[in-house]
Amino acid sequence: MPYQSPISPGRSWYEDTAGPRPEYPALDGDRTCDVVIIGGGFTGLSAATHLAKAGTNVVLIEAYRFGDGASGRNGGQLGTGQRAWAEELEAEYGFSRAKALFDLAEEAKTHLLEFTAANQIDIDYMPGQLSVAHKPRYVDDYKAHAETMASRFSYPHISFMDAKETAERLGSTAYFGGTRDTGTGHIHPMKLVIGTARVAAQAGAQLFEGTPSTGIISNGGKVKVSTPRGTVTAQKCLIAVNAYGGTLEPVSAAHIMPIGSFIGATVPLGADSDVLPGGEAVDDSRFVVRYFRRSKDGRLLFGGREVYGVNDPKDIHIHIRRQIAELYPALRDVEITHGWGGYVGITVPRKPFVREVMPNVISAGGYSGHGVMLSNFFGKLYAETVAGNRDRLKLIEDLKIPQFPGGRRFRTPLLFLALNWFALRDRI
Ligand SMILES: Cc1cc2nc3c(=O)[nH]c(=O)nc-3n(C[C@H](O)[C@H](O)[C@H](O)COP(=O)(O)OP(=O)(O)OC[C@H]3O[C@@H](n4cnc5c(N)ncnc54)[C@H](O)[C@@H]3O)c2cc1C
Repeated sequence: MPYQSPISPGRSWYEDTAGPRPEYPALDGDRTCDVVIIGGGFTGLSAATHLAKAGTNVVLIEAYRFGDGASGRNGGQLGTGQRAWAEELEAEYGFSRAKALFDLAEEAKTHLLEFTAANQIDIDYMPGQLSVAHKPRYVDDYKAHAETMASRFSYPHISFMDAKETAERLGSTAYFGGTRDTGTGHIHPMKLVIGTARVAAQAGAQLFEGTPSTGIISNGGKVKVSTPRGTVTAQKCLIAVNAYGGTLEPVSAAHIMPIGSFIGATVPLGADSDVLPGGEAVDDSRFVVRYFRRSKDGRLLFGGREVYGVNDPKDIHIHIRRQIAELYPALRDVEITHGWGGYVGITVPRKPFVREVMPNVISAGGYSGHGVMLSNFFGKLYAETVAGNRDRLKLIEDLKIPQFPGGRRFRTPLLFLALNWFALRDRI
């Protein structure tokens, strides 16, 4: 029976193409260590790797299997900078803070590529990112963005595309213009999960799957994490559960909201297909963003967040095929071999959430759809923090993320209404 993540809908194409996925044991008994990490996605696995490499005694517990949350199932797009454009950050925080946040994200990109190269993790990296306007009124913003990135943020890799170039590069006339970024790309996320876990284990991290944390107590300078068959007592704890944390820790839950995002993989389109002939990844200007790319074997991997109620993975196929046909009418009957989804952890201002939620317990998440490179880098920043340098993590902690309105009972229905309103606004 093929494996299916119990916490995310549908079996992903990544699962079928990642190669062997080693299993790790469940925790049985009590342990003590320097740092305990809860959650085995990019954030947790990267933190475990960097801590173990620095000689820290670290235990990581994952409720299911590594990558069963967002990290093994996402769109694989690295992007550039933070999720918000650098000029938006400048308007909010001033130039030097905006530049520091942009530079941090650029370092995250470099870190990911260097880390995978140094550790021989083949992540199927493919270069190029197109960001495209689904309304004519957004085209000038993309043009100004390309200019600002080069002149003000010293990032020369983004160029403006007019409607003609956009249509040629996309193989679709559905968009009105945009930008092309040659300084970033896209990856196979499950291969990164598997590879990072291997490196963490080799460095001496104690990794456990099938081990949910059922509670966290911070008392007298120690943190005690309970699980069904044992406890872990440590000096420090990293909560890296992002959108999958449920009620484990209330402060994180009040600031990070899960929203569903869904991807369909088509059959390979063939070498003569005019869909994305340059192999770039794409994201569009919708608030409820559409994101798509070709895989190394020529499929179209197409994602969108518009499918709010998915009861059956077959629903994903239907909705994704409809969205594909809007952009690529010739693909309206294309066979979709895989449909899957996961939960993106978003925050109110769409910026990451990092906070010390109890003494010696830091929670990190809420990358708001921009976590592939950031979450991996936050693991490294957390390891730096444990080693005594909190300066760079502090850049993120200082973003002062507000909690979602509505309290526990009304948070989800309010967000559902807001998303539907934004989805409607995307159409008008
Ligand atoms: C469909 C989809 C598409 C996306 N596309 C992109 C993209 O193209 N580009 C981009 O930058 N970002 C994208 N993202 C977001 C990106 O995947 C995430 O930001 C990133 O993977 C977050 O990693 P994480 O380790 O913080 O969280 P996760 O990978 O979600 O890991 C959290 C882990 O915590 C575990 N856990 C939860 N509760 C407990 C507990 N009590 N005890 C133990 N373990 C627990 C979960 O089982 C899970 O494995 C996408 C996300 C989704 C879902």
